[in-house]
Amino acid sequence: MDEYGEDPYEPDIVSPRAQPTEAGAEAGVRPAKLDELIGQSRVREQLELLLSGAKGRDAAPDHILLSGPPGLGKTTLAMIVSAELGVALRQTSGPAIERSGDLAAVLTSLGPGDVLFIDEIHRIARPAEELLYTAMEDFRVDVMVGKGPGATAIPLDLEPFTLVGATTRSGLLTGPLRDRFGFVGQLDFYDTPDLEAIVHRTARILAVEITADGAAEIAGRSRGTPRIANRLLRRVRDFAQVRADGVIDRDIAHRALALYDVDRIGLDRLDRAVLSALVESFGGGPVGLTTLAVAVGEQPDTVEEVCEPYLVRAGLLARTPRGRVATVHGWRHLGRTPPASSAAGVARAALFDTETLDDDQG
Ligand code: ADP
Repeated sequence: MDEYGEDPYEPDIVSPRAQPTEAGAEAGVRPAKLDELIGQSRVREQLELLLSGAKGRDAAPDHILLSGPPGLGKTTLAMIVSAELGVALRQTSGPAIERSGDLAAVLTSLGPGDVLFIDEIHRIARPAEELLYTAMEDFRVDVMVGKGPGATAIPLDLEPFTLVGATTRSGLLTGPLRDRFGFVGQLDFYDTPDLEAIVHRTARILAVEITADGAAEIAGRSRGTPRIANRLLRRVRDFAQVRADGVIDRDIAHRALALYDVDRIGLDRLDRAVLSALVESFGGGPVGLTTLAVAVGEQPDTVEEVCEPYLVRAGLLARTPRGRVATVHGWRHLGRTPPASSAAGVARAALFDTETLDDDQG
C-alpha cells in the first residue's frame, strides 16, 4: 500500500495472476481435453502416456506435480487430467489448508480414482504436508485423537486418488513431498505462434472476428502467457465493438492496446517497476532480491515468482551470484544507454548457471 491507501501494483491488465472477476470468463475458454491444449507439447505428450497407461491398467495414475509461473495452464491441466480420466475433481490450495484436520476431511471425502488439485502446494502448512505423505504413498491418513501422552493415531483408509499439485516455486518444495510425485511437468512460457493459436481459438469461442495480424499483435504483447492473451483479446474486443465495426485487425489491436497502456512486449507495471528500479536506483545492479523488492514495495516472493521469470526469459534481467543485473537489452528497453560496465556484468552473469540461484542476496 502507498500513502494514499492504494496498492501501487494491484493486478493490471497484463498481470499474469488471475483477477477475482475473471473466473467466469476463464471457465468458458479453458481447453477441456488434452488435444484441445495448445503448445507445451512435451508436457502434453508425457501426460498423454501417463494417463493412457493408467487407464489401460484401470488404476489411478501417479501423483502429478506441475510447476511454472502463473497463467500458463496448471489449473487447466489439472481439470484436463480429471476429465480425461472421467473422475471428479476436488480443488483447494496450500494456503487454504491451515490445519491437518482440514486436509484429512478433504482426503476422506474423495471417491475412488478422484483427482485432488492443490494449487500453490509449496505454501501448505507442515503438519498438513506430513499427513499428505502417507496419503500419497499408502492411501491412508492417521488421524490423531486426544492430546499429550494419551493421544492415539487412528488410521483411516482412503480411496486411491491422484494428487495434482501446482507450484510457482518447485524449489521450495521439501524433498519428501517432491519425491512422492511420480511425474513432474515443468510448464514454460509460450512462444508467439502458440499464443496466436490460443488467441484464434478464444476468438472463435467468443464469436469475435479477428485477422491473422490482429492475433499476432495481441500474441506478441501477452508476456508468453495464455491468461494474458485471453484477457487482452477481451479488452480489444470491447474496443473493436464500441469504436469500430467489431472486427479485430492489427490497427484496432494496436490502438486498443495503446489505450490500455500495454507495453510493446507486454510487461506489467510491476515488471517495469522492477526493471526501472534496477536501472535508475541501482545503476543496473548487481543488487539483492530483497533490496530490489523493498525498492518497488513488493514481497520478494512475488518479485521472484511472478515477475523475474519473464524478465529473465525476455533477456532484460539476469540473476547472478552477486545479485540481479539489468542486461544491455533491459537498459535499452527503458530507452536508456547502458554504461560500458553493464555489458561486462552481463557477460559475467552468463558464466554462471543462474537458474540454480534461489538464495537471497539482499
Ligand atoms: P495457472 O493455473 O497456471 O495459473 P490456468 O490453467 O488457470 O493457469 O490458465 C489460465 C488461462 O489460460 C485459462 O483460462 C486457460 O483458458 C488459458 N490457457 C492456459 N493454457 C492454455 C493452453 N495451452 N491452450 C489454451 N488456453 C490455455
